[in-house]
Amino acid sequence: MNRFAITCSLLACLLFGCGAGSGDKRHLAFDGGLAFNRIEDQVAFGPRVPGQPGHTACENYLLKEFSASADSVWAERWEHPTVSGDTLRLANICASFNPAANARILLCAHWDSRPVAEHDPDPALRNIPIQGANDGGSGVAVLLELARVFGRSRPSAGVDIALFDGEDYGDFQTMNDVLLGSRYFAEVHKGYNPRLGILLDMVGGTNAAFPLEGNSWASFPDQCNLVWDTAAGLGYGRYFPRQAGAWVIDDHIPLIKSGIRCIDIIQMGLPYWHTTQDTPDKCSPATLEAVGRTLAAVVYGFSTR
Ligand SMILES: [Zn+2]
Repeated sequence: MNRFAITCSLLACLLFGCGAGSGDKRHLAFDGGLAFNRIEDQVAFGPRVPGQPGHTACENYLLKEFSASADSVWAERWEHPTVSGDTLRLANICASFNPAANARILLCAHWDSRPVAEHDPDPALRNIPIQGANDGGSGVAVLLELARVFGRSRPSAGVDIALFDGEDYGDFQTMNDVLLGSRYFAEVHKGYNPRLGILLDMVGGTNAAFPLEGNSWASFPDQCNLVWDTAAGLGYGRYFPRQAGAWVIDDHIPLIKSGIRCIDIIQMGLPYWHTTQDTPDKCSPATLEAVGRTLAAVVYGFSTR
């Protein structure tokens, strides 16, 4: 860590607290095995692609799961006309804990899965949907398990969970029909001002590493320091290396543009990304647990003053 990072780190502690206090062990309730089961649950629905049966089934599952623990749960639905002339029926799935608390934290991920496997090594498979175990499934799995943990022991901060639809539907070259849920969320929640936002994407890979995503570090070093320092304090430093990562266009970008302080925890460079090989066997309960316990410690330790 350089001197700038240390200064930012100290500042982050002053602003946000330094993660869970040493006596607070509530983050240990996060169970990586249970989170892994949530990946398998999602994949079993089939493609979570808008318009397909697996999408509807997964939406119902997410609403039901959150209803078991959160104070309020709802779907924000809208229609999106695609460049090819289709109409997508989309839904962001939201859950809230401590709705009256002023100091709020946003945790988010995308819940849709990609309709095409354009990077598959087999050209014959490039037009079929991916399973999205890691790409989509892992972030949702961590947030479902966190919701279970927060349901058992409420954090003092308010926590909002948003699962974005339509992140991975379209074309990232042209930016048509991608990041749909986060764009919609930013538009309809103007003025929403959580103190901290954390996006999870591809957070379940075996032996994963999450270097500091470029846009996140450039925009919100204090928030990054809080998360990466908390991870290191819990012994998860190898998952959260203090290295410069890629600059990624992901759901945090529409949020940042609308004034929401959101950073992205993401693993890039996976060989099975957007292929038919993005399957549960590529994911690991240990990684999910490292990410989930880090976020739980951040949330439980968050200063609401
Ligand atoms: Zn993707």
